[in-house]
Amino acid sequence: MKIDSLIVGQGLAGSLLALHLLERGQRILVVDRDEANTSSKVAAGLVTPLAGARFNLPAGLETRLDYARAFYWNHEEAGGMTFFHHRRIARLFQSAAERTAWNARLEKERERYARFHEPLAIDTRHFPGSFGGFEMKEGGWLDVPAFLEYSRQRLLERAAYAIGRVKSEDVTPGNDGIRWKNISASRIIFCEGWRGNQNRFFDWVPMNAALGDILDLEIPELAHERRIVSGGAWLIPRGSGHFRAGSNYRHRFASETPDEAGRTEVLQKLARLTPVIPRVVAHRAAVRPVIRRSQVFMGTHPTHRHIAFFNGLGSKGVLNGPWYASQLANHLIDGTPLPGDADLANNHF
Ligand SMILES: Cc1cc2nc3c(=O)[nH]c(=O)nc-3n(C[C@H](O)[C@H](O)[C@H](O)COP(=O)(O)OP(=O)(O)OC[C@H]3O[C@@H](n4cnc5c(N)ncnc54)[C@H](O)[C@@H]3O)c2cc1C
Repeated sequence: MKIDSLIVGQGLAGSLLALHLLERGQRILVVDRDEANTSSKVAAGLVTPLAGARFNLPAGLETRLDYARAFYWNHEEAGGMTFFHHRRIARLFQSAAERTAWNARLEKERERYARFHEPLAIDTRHFPGSFGGFEMKEGGWLDVPAFLEYSRQRLLERAAYAIGRVKSEDVTPGNDGIRWKNISASRIIFCEGWRGNQNRFFDWVPMNAALGDILDLEIPELAHERRIVSGGAWLIPRGSGHFRAGSNYRHRFASETPDEAGRTEVLQKLARLTPVIPRVVAHRAAVRPVIRRSQVFMGTHPTHRHIAFFNGLGSKGVLNGPWYASQLANHLIDGTPLPGDADLANNHF
């Protein structure tokens, strides 16, 4: 079998890249291990334009945000389904220092920030938030499992999906492409998530993976709240008093199985957001692929130009991923340069 691109992994990264390559008329095959618990399957899927305690708006954020929203919307139209949920975010400051940082940002870049915020009105019985806050516009969350399933269906329609494991040892690089089993491809792109450097071609990439816990909660007292509420922890309303809550970053972990420590950490963070006691309905954990903060890294191998990498989506994968996938698809097909900050070739780890 001869194809253009073999994609390893159908998480968020592999799915985004696959949809872009299909759009460009490429013959592709995506091979995925079909694990029950992956970062993409567990992710909260939040899109938070003003993330972090310093409310930084990184260069190009608006481009990536607009691109992501249009991308998900187009695919929702194509699939006749909804997976991206626009929601405002009630952002509560956790300290006076955070409030000061926010005011300083506004002072400096009022015009650029105007698009993203409005004054906050919130029920202080349930969210005391004694340092105040603001209402963040243009946020939301992607139902990542629904998006993955949509992508898988698109691939199955084109006989472009298979369950299996691609071991880098079984991939043979050649002058015109690669071989894996009975497949010849012009290129292979590894989108393996947090195990991305357990691969003989990319074992030099320093993964800094972080285990995270997510709780499904019942909180009938907050059933009226339609916004995502965030400040240290976050709560995503799922309807009828059901919420998803998280999360934490554990860079040292013995196993990926949800444990008491993870559950307690999330509940403690949540207790600082609201005094209401939730009932825990479910607890899941998975490992985020982090390389350096939430910086995407991608590009071709320094010596094997038919072997490529797309990883490091971290906790901003839903927002950043679609635009970076479009850049990688253009690079692989047309040879256009990659964004410098993300290009593996520029990063001497
Ligand atoms: C608790 C938690 C909360 C999060 N919250 C958010 C959030 O709010 N917003 C956000 O944007 N992001 C969030 N994330 C991060 C988000 O999940 C990631 O950015 C993104 O999903 C990573 O996608 P990926 O495809 O790189 O990796 P993965 O999801 O790990 O996918 C990799 C896929 O490749 C497969 N695979 C690996 N190796 C092979 C192989 N050799 N052969 C075949 N298949 C293989 C795996 O089985 C898997 O299906 C969160 C993550 C966690 C864990």
